[in-house]
Amino acid sequence: MLTPPESLLNDSEFDHQRGMPTADEMSDTLHRLLLRLSSIVRAEGCLFLLYDDNAKTLVAQSPAHGLEDDQIESFETSASKGLFGSVFVSRKPLIQNDIQGLSESWISQWGIRNFIIFPLTTGPYGQQTPLGLILVFNHKNDNFSEDDLRVLAVMSRQLTVVITDASMYLRFSEEKEQLHATLLSLGVALVMVDVNGRISLINDAAARLLGEKASVGVLFEDAIENQQIIDLLKTAIHSGEESQQEIEITLPGSGHTLILQTQTALVRSQHLHSPRIIGAVAVFNDITEIRNVERLKTSFVSAVSHELRTPLTAIKGFVATLLQDTENYFDDTTRNEFYEIIDSECDRLKRLIDDLLSVSRIEAGRSLEMRWSKFSPLKVAIRVARAHKSFTQKNQLILDSPKDLPTMRGDEDKFEQILNNLLSNAIKYSPQGGEIRLMLRAENNLLKITVRDHGIGIPPDKLERIFAKFERVDNSDTRRTGGTGIGLFLVKHLVEQHGGRVWVESKLGEGSAFHIEMPLDADEVSEAEHTSTFKDFVK
Ligand code: ADP
Repeated sequence: MLTPPESLLNDSEFDHQRGMPTADEMSDTLHRLLLRLSSIVRAEGCLFLLYDDNAKTLVAQSPAHGLEDDQIESFETSASKGLFGSVFVSRKPLIQNDIQGLSESWISQWGIRNFIIFPLTTGPYGQQTPLGLILVFNHKNDNFSEDDLRVLAVMSRQLTVVITDASMYLRFSEEKEQLHATLLSLGVALVMVDVNGRISLINDAAARLLGEKASVGVLFEDAIENQQIIDLLKTAIHSGEESQQEIEITLPGSGHTLILQTQTALVRSQHLHSPRIIGAVAVFNDITEIRNVERLKTSFVSAVSHELRTPLTAIKGFVATLLQDTENYFDDTTRNEFYEIIDSECDRLKRLIDDLLSVSRIEAGRSLEMRWSKFSPLKVAIRVARAHKSFTQKNQLILDSPKDLPTMRGDEDKFEQILNNLLSNAIKYSPQGGEIRLMLRAENNLLKITVRDHGIGIPPDKLERIFAKFERVDNSDTRRTGGTGIGLFLVKHLVEQHGGRVWVESKLGEGSAFHIEMPLDADEVSEAEHTSTFKDFVK
């Protein structure tokens, strides 16, 4: 007579009320369960296999009883073929006491003499879905009987419950881990607080914004310095109001100011009957750069309008004066002077419009067209220096170059534009005058150019930025001089088109030196090759 199957588990071993057990507890429970099952049916070993829906296979699971982990590791078999497959498909258990004629490798590998393969199913009666199989086996010749099948039928139900819980737990903890890892590695900053006001999750990006005091377990009101962020989180937790706000914060440490688009959202428990608020999450998006570009664009539009209006006003003024002079009041010399001014103001307008078109071409990710030739950089430098001499009485313009400076390969017009932009800046930003030196040298097959002035200088934090489009140092001196902030952007672009580089050294109030190095025999670079490098600094 069979003893009625005892409960396989004590309450203490697997207590659903206690909440989620750990992975180790889960594994211990399963192991004990398999041990007991084996002892009831007097089997030496017991193993269960679970169905993998993706691979359509049955996969051996650890822990097993009577088999070492390395014996079952990576054991996977078809869910439709072979002994395991046929039991899985038919859901009919198989007792095998005579293994003669069975050639499946696991039988010899695991030294099995007789076994039962029993289907594991889950779900209510009539709507069961297959979960996997259980294999009980003996190495010695101790036969299994139909009675053992009945025991297995009852016990497999309990086994199924535990296995389902275990795999649900594993899936849950895997998903939880994945979610946690995703949140932590997000580029966007995120902090989560519970209803007691403690930080329950904070990713690296948020920790960088909020400072080192902000960490898991700490009260957010103690850890976060910015009052607006504190208020947003408080409103979410206490009033259940989700909100969005643009916040300016000063970074702890560096003191940099950032503009953050901050959004709070409530975290609700998934409890079906009584969903409740269990915390709030705040997400911070750094929009400093977007706001910066918007600000630059706005000031750019007004700067361009100003730059267009100045030459136009002069042109209109002189043309009107000439038109009104019906009695030939002005002599030919004066008239010529007027024509020259109109001509040079037209050139200035054309240069500005050409520059704007160049910027928009670069912004579209296209390079400026290069007309490659061999030319004398010295001749170009002489031309540019002479042209600028007439613009300034205050400055002493010095061209410092060996007479035998070699020729170079490049685009002569673009090269002229580079020198033009640097020299006109040197004059523009030296309102008190002083020496301006244009120095050219040839060294190691490189053309080295320096434009040095003794003007207003550039603050250290702007040294990199002034090469970005629309970027201007905003102070009373630069506001007075006017400008669009695209000159240096174009210089950088054109120098790089020649395979060179440009950088600046400057001391505020003492002057600046713009340095350029470019190969004397630059290769023609195709537009496609250039496009990738433009994108980097068009940002
Ligand atoms: P802008 O039309 O404003 O002169 P640029 O792109 O040529 O535009 O220059 C960008 C900014 O860099 C200028 O607005 C100015 O603040 C600064 N800058 C450029 N050259 C000099 C210089 N030689 N000395 C001091 N500041 C300079």
